[in-house]
Amino acid sequence: MTTKPQDVLPYHRPWIGDEEIAAVAETLRSGWLTMGPQTFRFEEEFARFLGAPHAIAVNSCTAALMLALDVLGIGPGDEVITPTMTFTATAAVVVHRGAKPVLVDCTLDPMNLDVERAIEAVTPRTRAIVPVHMAGHPCDMDEILALARRHDLAVVEDAAHALPAAYRGRKIGTVGDLTAFSFYAGKNMTTGEGGMLTTARPDWAAEIRSRRLHGLSRDAWARHSTAGSWRYDVAYPGYKFNMTDLNAAIGLHQLARLPAMQERRLALVDRYREGLADVPEVRLPTVREGVESAWHVYVIRLDTDRLTIDRDAVMAALKADGVMTSVTFIPLHLHSFYRDRFGYRPEDFPNATALADSIISLPLYPRMEPGDVDRVCDALRRIVSAHRR
Ligand SMILES: *Cc1c(COP(=O)(O)O)cnc(C)c1O
Repeated sequence: MTTKPQDVLPYHRPWIGDEEIAAVAETLRSGWLTMGPQTFRFEEEFARFLGAPHAIAVNSCTAALMLALDVLGIGPGDEVITPTMTFTATAAVVVHRGAKPVLVDCTLDPMNLDVERAIEAVTPRTRAIVPVHMAGHPCDMDEILALARRHDLAVVEDAAHALPAAYRGRKIGTVGDLTAFSFYAGKNMTTGEGGMLTTARPDWAAEIRSRRLHGLSRDAWARHSTAGSWRYDVAYPGYKFNMTDLNAAIGLHQLARLPAMQERRLALVDRYREGLADVPEVRLPTVREGVESAWHVYVIRLDTDRLTIDRDAVMAALKADGVMTSVTFIPLHLHSFYRDRFGYRPEDFPNATALADSIISLPLYPRMEPGDVDRVCDALRRIVSAHRR
């Protein structure tokens, strides 16, 4: 059977409403396009949503991570512990600071940094640890914070997947020293491109606000609005990482819709759980007690030993059925840069290496209908049944 193009179920589609479109048009007409009143309102509402003391809007999560390491003063000679099971941005920013990313393995479920491995990875040069809440499932933050306190390390959370998520009653964004969020088009809420950095430290927040915009003592809004003065000082060589009001206008409406989007996401997750419960070759992700996952992606693990085809062939068969899937992620140690520069080997990370060939991210986004989940489950069940050992 051939599939008509309109029958394809995309891997992801953002939910953009008429409100976002109107808000962007209004911002364009307002005459103020870059960082200004919309951005500051978005920061306030984001901080209120999480209960975080400070939220600083930037143009990506990568920029947020970079600013976090920058304000911590991490540089040449320093080591930063990151999981290997993450996106390259988590570790690339460490390299950009001139420091060394020390990769550690993950547990199999959730696919989060294995704290035991992180403990072994600490050296006198370790300055920070960057846990990633993979797929939106919060890391073991009590254990990570205890490790950090023992060795005087900063904890910078990569929460690109973890909005909204909670650890033992605390929202992610209020737990570690600094937390970075992503509003990339594929994330749980989007501004097209964008990010946010939260912290409880007022001195860091003030530094980050300046460093995201060239290190200026005053932003353009403060200088060009009628109350302001044109004069400014540069006290630090900052970055060009600010958010724009066009992005923030989108973010304000996405944030307002986030609880409703999340409710739909959770219903789809339940449907996947029920729909795939009777396929023993497919291992479903679980949620540990005491945490709320943001369920950014629905990552299944194939028991490939029980199948006659490999993971890639299963993905190809799903695609032939019009179901688009992805892999979140190929662990960093398997990429040429991290392998060649730091000498990491597959056998150093047995769990992540095993996951690399067995995980599939199924479509999961609030615009999906329950029937779409059924379709994915039916296709997967059919493919697996046809290839049982
Ligand atoms: C998406 C993502 C990032 C980068 O986010 P950007 O906003 O695109 O910079 C960082 N870490 C993880 C785990 C991600 O999934």
